[in-house]
Amino acid sequence: MCLSPIRVATRYRTGSIVSDLEKASRDQDAKGMLGAVDDVLKLLGTEKPSGGDLTRRFLIEAPWFYALGKRQQARVWALVSSVHDVQRQAFHPDMMAKYVTLMIPDVRWLSDIIAKSEDGFQHGPFTIQVLPGVTGSRLKDSLAALDTATDLLRHSFPQVLYGTVFLSRTVAHGKAQYVSSSDVLYLAMTARDSVGDVHALCHEFGHRFEHLFWKDRAARDAFARLVNEPLQEDVPIPDVDKVVEALLDQVDRSRQGKSTSTPAVVTRYLTEVGASRLRDLQEAVWSYRSSEISAAAFRQEFYRIMPTTIRHMTREPLFVTPYAKGKGLTENFAEAFAYLVEGRESEIPVELRQIVSALL
Ligand SMILES: [Zn+2]
Repeated sequence: MCLSPIRVATRYRTGSIVSDLEKASRDQDAKGMLGAVDDVLKLLGTEKPSGGDLTRRFLIEAPWFYALGKRQQARVWALVSSVHDVQRQAFHPDMMAKYVTLMIPDVRWLSDIIAKSEDGFQHGPFTIQVLPGVTGSRLKDSLAALDTATDLLRHSFPQVLYGTVFLSRTVAHGKAQYVSSSDVLYLAMTARDSVGDVHALCHEFGHRFEHLFWKDRAARDAFARLVNEPLQEDVPIPDVDKVVEALLDQVDRSRQGKSTSTPAVVTRYLTEVGASRLRDLQEAVWSYRSSEISAAAFRQEFYRIMPTTIRHMTREPLFVTPYAKGKGLTENFAEAFAYLVEGRESEIPVELRQIVSALL
């Protein structure tokens, strides 16, 4: 995935709004003042046509607003209210000019905040960059998910809590994504403070930990072995001697003109070892039948060409979740890491758990 860090675009240049307000109020230019205060509202959000009190009627969409403290948010709301006061005085340019003059310091303050938000805003240990298309109300919910993940990680893995988090409309997979090449995190605006979305975030921080902070080579190798390699052992096939004798006996009987069928012990053996060396075995049988070789030579040949043990799987590769299955070390580790910080260690397969628990 490739996303360039696009700066937040502000549609209206905030600096010029202040000078527009100053000029129009000085000239008592009603049209100019109304145009300029309208531009102030456009910086903040949209007015709904329906009535009701201000906070219902006006929808603040500016993402940076949701990063402000309560007192600063109240100051923004007061500014929205002042704009409405100005609009109500449309037929009294002198009164309008008074109101406009009073609100100019607040607009200047607002310009400052917006300018800062273009470089992202600080939220806990992160710099949040809001990508175009993200609306303020969504931002609040997705930041709540980030806060919960941060709380879970703060105690055990504070080293992963830093840097830029891009808030975007969507991410390539799920609700969050860590991009190791640039060491940044993307968070979808659709993320919520839910178990699943917080898990997705913890998982992505797990990728950061694995990528930059998990230096213990021995532990990494041990984890990778459990994930990538099944455990196998060679088990002796029972009754191999009986198979050899049954084959000899079968040939002897057919030589004597007696009817024969393949003995059950032979059938079982062939099923177990598969068809791979059946041809070689048949050749040996034919050699014995045509008296080319003795029974002793046949026995010797059998043990030379046919398997006497079979490989059994004693353990499958270990995966933390169905999602991680078959995806190898990286995804498996991220899932284990997330379970670890979520206090769901018991759900991690015990051998893997012993490795990741040691990280705490
Ligand atoms: Zn992942």
